[in-house]
Amino acid sequence: MELAEVGAGPLQKFALRDSSGQFRTTFSEQPNLNELREASQEYGDPLERINILDAGLVCSNCNTSLGDRFGANSDSDLLCWDCAMGQEAETDQRGVSQTTDPTKAVLSESALYHKNLCNYVINVATGCTHGCKFCYVPSTPNIKMRGEMLENQANVESGQREWGSYLLYRDDMPERLARILDRKQKWKKEQGGRGVVMISSGTDCYQDRRAAQITRGCVIELVKHNRPVRILTRSPAVVRDKDIFKAADGLVTVGSSIPCLDDEMVRSIEPGAPAPTTRLNALQELSDAGVPVYVSMSPTYPIQDKEEIRNLMEEFVSLDPDVIFHEPINPRGQNFDMTVRAAREAGQEELADELEKLKDRDHWVEYSLNQLEWVEEIGDELDLPIHLWPDKQLIKYLDGEKSEELRAQLETTTSPEDYPSPKRSA
Ligand code: SF4
Ligand SMILES: [Zn+2]
Repeated sequence: MELAEVGAGPLQKFALRDSSGQFRTTFSEQPNLNELREASQEYGDPLERINILDAGLVCSNCNTSLGDRFGANSDSDLLCWDCAMGQEAETDQRGVSQTTDPTKAVLSESALYHKNLCNYVINVATGCTHGCKFCYVPSTPNIKMRGEMLENQANVESGQREWGSYLLYRDDMPERLARILDRKQKWKKEQGGRGVVMISSGTDCYQDRRAAQITRGCVIELVKHNRPVRILTRSPAVVRDKDIFKAADGLVTVGSSIPCLDDEMVRSIEPGAPAPTTRLNALQELSDAGVPVYVSMSPTYPIQDKEEIRNLMEEFVSLDPDVIFHEPINPRGQNFDMTVRAAREAGQEELADELEKLKDRDHWVEYSLNQLEWVEEIGDELDLPIHLWPDKQLIKYLDGEKSEELRAQLETTTSPEDYPSPKRSA
């Protein structure tokens, strides 16, 4: 799939040619980034995309060639790297300050193999408009150490306090990833990580159209290079890429965080995220289409008793998930206080009270152990593949025998996922 200039002078047009040389559509002037990505999806085969850097395009601001980096503005006009870096952040109708992300990282090694998730992560943006109150990302160095960048690029004073209200996109990620994958010889495959690339650990990769388009390009490149992909999202928009997941033939697994199916309660602490019932429906649609899916019950709330956990897990049976990860909430850090406050402000008094009680260590230990045990037991009953993530602090606080038992479980557990499928193993 490539973009070519046809004609000359006032009659010059841009035409999109498919791999057999057929013209599929034309543009009367240089298309913007959104038009290019949409045309790529509409006219190409699922695993095809237009490489913007090879398309001979120019910056919509200064008219110079795009060079080897590019960005865009909120109208989707393509910008050379200098103009992208010099642009003022724009505030969209959601009140989100958005601009181009100067971050160099593309494919980063990750320690998430400890949780049987991946060896590498790709983040398509900095920031996340879902703004989950318990989110650990704003307390990581990725945000904490980048205060100056956030202030310069997006007028953000506090990356943590303002979490949810800024989003810096990495529009040229698919093009940069393609070059890296072409060159890369060594590929990590730590036990537990299986050489998998996770999109994303620090943002939601389907939170809006622009992020979803970057994600689609990255997934296409990874699959073309035969690398296994794990997608984790709270956005039902992920179903729009069902075509590439199917074409990936078992090399892509798609999961969603579904801690509880009470939409109002979940909204109180995940204010910008789509309702969990819509996430469940999205996973069902993908599973019905033959795409491998998984669920992350993370973090489950102290208000959920055994019966509620059972009701929730019964909803997962028809998904036929490859794995269900489970993790109780932990009451550490500034984000936990923000979570309690958000629940109270949203009128979820009972949830707020129960969360507050978790600050008592013994109470937290009891709640965590109970929930981990219930999930394991109900998983057995319903024949669901469970993978627990007991908190490391929890193991420290327990007495001898139980502590050893959980530690051994943490160290020896391998994921029950049969993934990536043997058909296309990397
Ligand atoms: S969706 Fe994930 S990255 Fe985004 S705010 Fe929620 S927990 Fe954080
Ligand atoms: Zn420019």
